[in-house]
Amino acid sequence: MNIILFGPPGAGKGTQAERLEKDRGLIQLSTGNMLRAEIAAGSPLGVKVKAIIDGGSLVSDEIMIEMISNRIDQPDCAKGFILDGFPRTIAQAQALDEMLHAKGKDLGAVIQLVVDEAGLLARIQKRASESGVVRADDNEETLKKRLAVYREQTAPILPYYEQKGLLHQVDGMAPVEKVGAEIEAVLQAV
Ligand code: AMP
Repeated sequence: MNIILFGPPGAGKGTQAERLEKDRGLIQLSTGNMLRAEIAAGSPLGVKVKAIIDGGSLVSDEIMIEMISNRIDQPDCAKGFILDGFPRTIAQAQALDEMLHAKGKDLGAVIQLVVDEAGLLARIQKRASESGVVRADDNEETLKKRLAVYREQTAPILPYYEQKGLLHQVDGMAPVEKVGAEIEAVLQAV
């Protein structure tokens, strides 16, 4: 099954995607991780996107659509994947539909981790202190910008998936295990 984990930065998409990878053998496709790998490798793409990411803005739809389309074509994705951080705009959501159709694939569910924004800053700070790796975009100022980008460009995708009957909401503020169990219940029901 192919699914989307949806929610603002710090909602727990990465944590839940990793759990789903382990439990269900799905492949986590985190566009943020892919972009950070490009930056770490110093590739031309990495050089191009670094300032955009550090500033909390979105990388262009064109770049992201091509990146995810190429990744989905890799053989390991045949057993199912979890999109974590994609789509982030309506244009990306539409392009995803088209590419999945063209590749003979589809979406089984879109799971929205519903979170209270006030708690997110604390979570992000915890992530930075626990991982020991401080992401350049995990500071208060950039987080506020990323949340604004989420509200303005990403959250408007939700009605698109609701109309398709694919949207399922899970309480993302619950403890990690409970969120995982709720996601599992959704996936067993679809
Ligand atoms: P994330 O790790 O998912 O929070 O992504 C970190 C940053 O990478 C975002 O703030 C954006 O700058 C960029 N990014 C990741 N995924 C996308 C996407 N689908 N569209 C545009 N920019 C993205």
